[in-house]
Amino acid sequence: MKLHEYQSRDLLSSFGVPVPKGEVTDNPTNALEIAQDLGGRVVVKAQVLMGGRGKAGGVKLFNSAQEAADFTKELIGKRLVSPQNPTGMVVEKVLISELIDIEKEFYIAVLLDRAEQKDVIMISARGGMDIEEVAEKDPHAIVKLHVDPKWGLSDYEIRDAIKQAKIDARAEKQLVSLIKSLYKAYKENDCTLVEINPCALTPDGRVIAADAKVAIDDNALFRHPNFAEVSSESAEDPIEAEAAKQGIAYVKLDGEIGVIGNGAGLVMLTLDEVARAGSKAANFLDVGGGAQSERVKECVQLVLMNEKVKALLINIFGGITRGDEVAKGVVQAIQELNVKIPIVVRVEGTNADQAKQILSGANLIPADSVQEAAEKVVESLKL
Ligand code: GDP
Ligand code: MN
Repeated sequence: MKLHEYQSRDLLSSFGVPVPKGEVTDNPTNALEIAQDLGGRVVVKAQVLMGGRGKAGGVKLFNSAQEAADFTKELIGKRLVSPQNPTGMVVEKVLISELIDIEKEFYIAVLLDRAEQKDVIMISARGGMDIEEVAEKDPHAIVKLHVDPKWGLSDYEIRDAIKQAKIDARAEKQLVSLIKSLYKAYKENDCTLVEINPCALTPDGRVIAADAKVAIDDNALFRHPNFAEVSSESAEDPIEAEAAKQGIAYVKLDGEIGVIGNGAGLVMLTLDEVARAGSKAANFLDVGGGAQSERVKECVQLVLMNEKVKALLINIFGGITRGDEVAKGVVQAIQELNVKIPIVVRVEGTNADQAKQILSGANLIPADSVQEAAEKVVESLKL
C-alpha cells in the first residue's frame, strides 16, 4: 500500500525526520487560508500516488497565497499524466507546504535488496527530478549501504556512505540522524519503501525532507491497524479499495469481461481462456473457499462497479465451495441488482446438479467447460 505524500511526511515526522510545515486540503478557499498562514511563500503539491508529479505539472512554487489558491483550483479534479503513469490520476487533494530554499538536492531511500537478502540504504548527492536518469546513466553516483540483519546500522557506516556519495559536509551530521530515523520508521512499520527525494540542504545549512514517499507491505497491514484509515484514502483504485475493505481478493484489469472464480489458480486459468477466446478480463476475483451465497452476491456487485464490464463469467469448481450456494448467490445478485448484462456460468464439482437447477430458472448462459464458458462470454458481446 502506497501512502500519499502528506501521510508519508506525517509518519516520518513522528520519527523525528524534519519536514516542511504544511497542510492538506481539497478546496481552494481553505488553500488560501493555509497559504496565508504559511506566509504566502508556498509549494502546492498534487496528492496523487504516482512518481514524477513535478514534471507532470503537479508541483508549483508560489510567492503569493492568492496564486497558490488559484493553482489549487486549477489542479483539483485535473488528471495528471507522467511517463511513470501514462493513464494518469485525478487530483483530489493538494498539500500546501512552506517553500524551502534549496541549495542542494540529495536522494535517500530505504528498501529491500532481494538479491542480497538485506535492507539497503541508497544515497546520492544528485537527487531531484532526474534521479531515474542518474540511476540509468551513472549508477555509481548512487551509493548503496546494505544493512547487516545481525548487527543493524552503525553511525560510522552511515557516515562513510555519506562521504562516499560526496555529499556536502555541512549535511553530514544531520543526515546521519535522518537516515537512522528513516530506517527505524521503515522497520517498525513494515515498509517496503521509504524515499526522500529531494532531501534538501538549505543555504543556512539545514537538512529537510522536501518530499516523502512511503509504501507499506500489504501482508503486514494486520499488524498496523492504525493504517486502516489511511488505506481507504490511499488506494489507487476505488473498487480495489472497496474489495480490500470487504476482504475480497480483487485486482482490476483493463478488459471488459468480469470474472469470478474460486481459487487463484482457477481464476488465472479463466483469465487466460478469456484472452484465448479473443477478449480481455476486466478483473481478477477469487471468491475464496467455502463462499456462501451472500458472499457471492457481494462479489458480483463488486465486479459490476467497474463500468467497463460488458459481460460476466462465473467459473466455479466445487470442492469446499458448494455449487448450490454459489448458484443461489448469483440468482439473488441478478434479481436484487437488476443485472442486465449477459452472464455465463460454469459450475462443476460439489452439488453441481443442484446448482444447474437453481441457475436454469434465471436468465443465464450455462457452460460445461472453462473453454466453452470463455467462448460463450466473448460471443455474448456480439449479441
Ligand atoms: P515529484 O516530482 O513527484 O517527486 O515531486 P517533488 O515533491 O519531489 O517536487 C518536485 C520538485 O519540486 C523537487 O524536485 C524540487 O526541485 C521542487 N520542490 C519541491 N518542494 C520545494 C520547495 O519547498 N522549495 C523548492 N525550492 N523547490 C521545491
Ligand atoms: Mn520527489
